[in-house]
Amino acid sequence: MNTVFIAVGSNLNDPISQALDAIESLKSLPQSQFIRASSLYSSSPMGPQDQPDYINAVIEIETSLTPIELLNQTQAIELGQGRVRKEERWGARTLDLDILLYAQEVIESERLTVPHYGMKEREFVIYPLLEIAPNLYLPCGTKLKELTKAVPLNGLHIWQA
Ligand code: ATP
Ligand code: MG
Ligand code: MG
Repeated sequence: MNTVFIAVGSNLNDPISQALDAIESLKSLPQSQFIRASSLYSSSPMGPQDQPDYINAVIEIETSLTPIELLNQTQAIELGQGRVRKEERWGARTLDLDILLYAQEVIESERLTVPHYGMKEREFVIYPLLEIAPNLYLPCGTKLKELTKAVPLNGLHIWQA
């Protein structure tokens, strides 16, 4: 089994429900065991600013799915929750599931870059991930906690009803 971390993000059509539904779906992935989920967080949008704030979380699973099999599964969950791929980069979406880490593997293929290329700069990834994996190291040898020094919260906060 491989330890995998997946980032969940949504800012359309009731993002709280979208995130909770996605987490439920991730709990029933085949060949996988759900380990834990972070709190839900609220974050400011990256890129185009004329869109709602995001709800984010990070979840941990153990899986024997290959990385591509896992991507097929997470993309099916995105589509199932009404994700429409648009021209605009980083535009509003019902659900985004990004594979952050797959064990300590480094993957550079057409469909998959792991570790996720943006994770070192994104507060809405680093802080939720730190909540559930405070002692994590990246495959490059960097300690996750060290990244917080260069990445401010930028308004990120734990979501409360
Ligand atoms: P960003 O990748 O900057 O967070 P995004 O999540 O909005 O932007 P998507 O439209 O969700 O981008 O995905 C675009 C493509 O990224 C997908 O078709 C997928 O093949 C590819 N991709 C590469 N690496 C990963 C990864 N680690 N997790 C998920 N998708 C990935
Ligand atoms: Mg993304
Ligand atoms: Mg994505």
